[in-house]
Amino acid sequence: MSASNPTPAAAGLGPGGPADPEHDPGATYALEPEQTAALTALVVSSTGEEVPTYTPLTGQRLAMMPQSSADDVEEAFVRARAAQREWARTSLEERSAIMLRLHDLVLERQDEILDLVCWESGKARKDAFDETLHVALTARYYARTARKHLGTERKIGVVPGLTRVELNRVPKGVVGIIAPWNYPFTMALCDGLPALMAGNAVVTKPDAQTMLTALYGAQLLREAGFPADLWQVVAGPGRVLGSEIIARADYICFTGSTATGKLIAQQCAERLIGCSLELGGKNPIMILRDADLDRAAEGAVRASFSNAGQLCVSMERLFVADQVYDRFVEKFVARTKALRLQPGLDWGSDMGSLISEDQLKTVTAHVEDAVSKGARVLAGGKARPDLGPYFFEPTILEGVTPDMTCFGDETFGPVISLYRFSDEADAVARANEGQYGLNAAIYSQDGKRARAIARHVKCGTVNINEAFAATFASLDAPMGGMRESGMGRRQGAEGIHRYTESQSVATQRLMRFSPVLGLSDEAFAKIFTANLKLMKKVGRP
Ligand code: NAD
Repeated sequence: MSASNPTPAAAGLGPGGPADPEHDPGATYALEPEQTAALTALVVSSTGEEVPTYTPLTGQRLAMMPQSSADDVEEAFVRARAAQREWARTSLEERSAIMLRLHDLVLERQDEILDLVCWESGKARKDAFDETLHVALTARYYARTARKHLGTERKIGVVPGLTRVELNRVPKGVVGIIAPWNYPFTMALCDGLPALMAGNAVVTKPDAQTMLTALYGAQLLREAGFPADLWQVVAGPGRVLGSEIIARADYICFTGSTATGKLIAQQCAERLIGCSLELGGKNPIMILRDADLDRAAEGAVRASFSNAGQLCVSMERLFVADQVYDRFVEKFVARTKALRLQPGLDWGSDMGSLISEDQLKTVTAHVEDAVSKGARVLAGGKARPDLGPYFFEPTILEGVTPDMTCFGDETFGPVISLYRFSDEADAVARANEGQYGLNAAIYSQDGKRARAIARHVKCGTVNINEAFAATFASLDAPMGGMRESGMGRRQGAEGIHRYTESQSVATQRLMRFSPVLGLSDEAFAKIFTANLKLMKKVGRP
């Protein structure tokens, strides 16, 4: 730890005051040691190997995390498959009841979860709160809509009255989930809950930086009443364990970078298993000339700097109408400069730390590259080692051009570039540039016009007069990326149907699909042709 990094006490952190890692290298701040031990025991690991995990707030050690081998992944799948066979026989009502208990547990333990998420990810408490909120919303949504999404559905049969068709949703089996670090509690649980609801088991590999939070989620699932073996957690490098999981899973849910997503898609293609990929973005926000500028400035701050910009749906490009550019920018810059940056577990911070040195390097490189090529810094622009090892100021850039890295590459940090536009169609065309298409936002007081514009934006979600929360928290609506921002959708019907196979069961009564009573094939074909004409005439689909 460098001398400029504060101890937990200096940062106002930690239950027991400062603990210098030189003197107390095993210090665990987030949880009591026995709690940490109970969590790490949930990792399927027989290797005897452990790697330390650290808090980005101070750089101090949080836990020694057991590591999993290929054999451990195999063991996780053996356990998960056995548990899944039993689980698939449970009723939807039984599963819903457990899901609702999870909902209540998350709210009861909220404070402890928020502490842990802050410690492990370095984020501000209000950003951690979004995670418990999202897990609770997801648990309630899938518990309450289970029958609608999974109940046997009647379909139209080919011969009215005589062909009865039913659609069953059959669980895939064991779902592999590979998750990132940016929303450790949400990412640990939210994609897995519909998989469980649909009768699957899960083997998950959370990111190495946020294992404790993911394990806490696994422990809550058990407490809520899900069978212990239904949810298996393995730990280790994604490159190694990812392939082991893909080699055994019946479906893969991946969230992470586009580069890794492409590798995962290739491996899934080899085995002809399905996958959903929630990937990167370079999300645009558009402020139209009739926008409520105070509301837009508030939204733009949240859009750009929530979770220090380490949010898949956060904005990195801001297009502002000429007529309101100066007034909007003045408000946006003022609000950004007023943001409180501080390490800590309390509610006093508006923006927390980046997760790691790698993230800090990327963000710093993007800003330095832009500035060296002529971009102007309107707010922020530098690292803040006085606050913690990986803090970086919320940064607004103007004059960003296509030769600068941050023009098209995802920064995944608190950096937004401002662009002026005079023509809305041109703004949409510029917003659609690049390979991504995850999330967009439009601010306008004319909702109808904004919704019409949204149809031309090539993004999986578009928020009007809101940054991202309106779509993200509306669990009934699918969420995911177009183009290189992903494949498949989480949330809503698509978010649960991805974990099922559709099985059509047709029961044919009386009539059969071949000639009867000595009818020739030709006569049979004529009768069927007449029937086709009749069905069209009576308006049958
Ligand atoms: P990453 O792709 O490096 O890692 C994500 C996960 O994949 C980690 O668990 C990692 O261990 C694992 N992994 C890494 N290499 C692998 C491989 N070869 N095979 C299998 N697994 C592998 O991404 P990251 O840097 O941790 O996360 C940030 C990225 O995630 C950003 O691009 C962000 O936009 C994206 N993201 C997207 C969403 C979304 O919903 N669209 C949400 C959060 C983050």
